[in-house]
Amino acid sequence: MASHTAANGKVVSIHYTLTLEGGEVVDSSEGQAPFEYLHGASNIVAGLEKALTGLAVDAPFQVAVAPEEGYGMRQDGNEQRISRKVFPPNVKIAVGMQLAAKGDDGQPMPFWIAKIEEDVVTIDFNHPLAGETLHFAGKVVGIREASKEELQHGHPHGPGGHHHH
Ligand code: ZN
Repeated sequence: MASHTAANGKVVSIHYTLTLEGGEVVDSSEGQAPFEYLHGASNIVAGLEKALTGLAVDAPFQVAVAPEEGYGMRQDGNEQRISRKVFPPNVKIAVGMQLAAKGDDGQPMPFWIAKIEEDVVTIDFNHPLAGETLHFAGKVVGIREASKEELQHGHPHGPGGHHHH
């Protein structure tokens, strides 16, 4: 039935494991609630969304997503060394942590802490998985219509209307 396949405007639940080219597992929903996303709203990387389009509940998937349809290519010159003092003293920073700066247009620009020295912090505007081929494997476990509110927000609201913003 067409109405029960992953398509724009549906909230799709999946179980998945994300493995890198070298076999390193970097993310998995195993042992947790399934991951929910709103199809067609760029909640997930383009290559995975494309692979899931048209799948029904219980359908398994396995896809290799090239960086262009994943987290992009690694760009040189996206690293910046900034003073530790830029971060408020009560903000505990750690390597790998994601933060956001305000761009010139007022939009948040995510960056990651790459290195911490005594007074200098190296930040990187590349996603940590930029340049990686992403191997997703898993199974579709649920598909439902998105609510009006979810469509407006561009993301699913979990069981009980859980809201994280
Ligand atoms: Zn919302």
